Amino acid sequence: GKVLLTGGSGFIASHVLDCLLEHSYEVVVTARSEEKGRRIVDSIDGSLGKKVSFAVVEDIARDGAFDEVVKAHPFDYVVHTASPYQLRFDDPVKDCLDPAIKGTTGILKSVKAFAPTVKRIVITSSSAAVLNPPNHPKVYDETSWADVTWDQAVSDPAQTYRASKKFSEKAAWDFIAAEQPGFDLATINNTYTFGPIPRSLASLGGLNTSNHRIRDMVQGKMKHAIQPTAPVFTFVDVRDVALAHVRAMAFPEAGGHRFYVVGGYFSNTRIADIIRGSHPELRNQLPPADSADDFPSELWQFDTSKSKKLLGLEYTGLEKSVVDTVDSILKFGCVD
Ligand code: NDP
Repeated sequence: GKVLLTGGSGFIASHVLDCLLEHSYEVVVTARSEEKGRRIVDSIDGSLGKKVSFAVVEDIARDGAFDEVVKAHPFDYVVHTASPYQLRFDDPVKDCLDPAIKGTTGILKSVKAFAPTVKRIVITSSSAAVLNPPNHPKVYDETSWADVTWDQAVSDPAQTYRASKKFSEKAAWDFIAAEQPGFDLATINNTYTFGPIPRSLASLGGLNTSNHRIRDMVQGKMKHAIQPTAPVFTFVDVRDVALAHVRAMAFPEAGGHRFYVVGGYFSNTRIADIIRGSHPELRNQLPPADSADDFPSELWQFDTSKSKKLLGLEYTGLEKSVVDTVDSILKFGCVD
């Protein structure tokens, strides 16, 4: 089968790409420039490289941005990961909400108009489209939707990203309901994701947001005091997220579902303790060994039974996820 993978330069996409290749798919990735596209293809070893090509899509918010690429290949599936993920945006609409929402509706429209061979689209949504801080229910599952409003999205920078994920996922489900296209949809609502950094990464400064705290610890940025963990206390390993995408794409019964994908709880103190055990040579870079754990005593629970039952996921633990992330950062080099 042939898959279109958007946002190929990203952290999660790099693992989705590896997982697709392991499952013998041919993949076309989109990237914002020739240079980025070339780096992705060049990061794939040997003969597998022949199964990957790239297309440049400069601005996913533009009308018809994906028309050309979907016309050029007989795709069976689309995995849409491209979306801005930063903690702050200068212009919430132009830099975040537009590319997130119009990027999502844009790919759905292009596929409906020009790609009749596509059977399913999998979209990387987020736990941000599920959670409702500070009014947490006892247990979260796929029935929960973030209640963030458009006004909050444009006026409170802390809500912009969350809202971009909620509104783009909602727009995707609304599109399917209204347009009844010849393909169906599944979304992966993964929580805060850790894991080995992409081989195609150009510099540690460009590392994806959710790996920053592990990178910062390795670089000694918390050696005087541990930073607070809030607002997120759940993590998932990126390899589990990648497998969730590939299975949600390939398993017929996954169509029409959201999947809340969570591996467990974490705190910065717990991450530091794991690194102290696995990498004693980093001791002097790490936060003080007696740092208090800020893990909250009353925390919501998560129900991942749907992802286990329909996708067969078995979740990686925090220790392996952190150790493998640190190893990948050290291998990349230039940690100071
Ligand atoms: P990255 O920042 O590594 O990847 C983001 C990808 O989206 C990159 O390929 C980036 O391209 C592309 N992108 C961002 N903004 C635009 C834009 N305006 N136009 C075109 N492409 C754009 O982060 P992740 O891999 O973590 O994120 C991938 C997806 O996963 C996102 O949809 C994110 O919301 C979602 N997600 C991430 C979680 C996490 O904890 N990491 C948790 C839940 C969901 P470029 O390299 O050119 O900037």
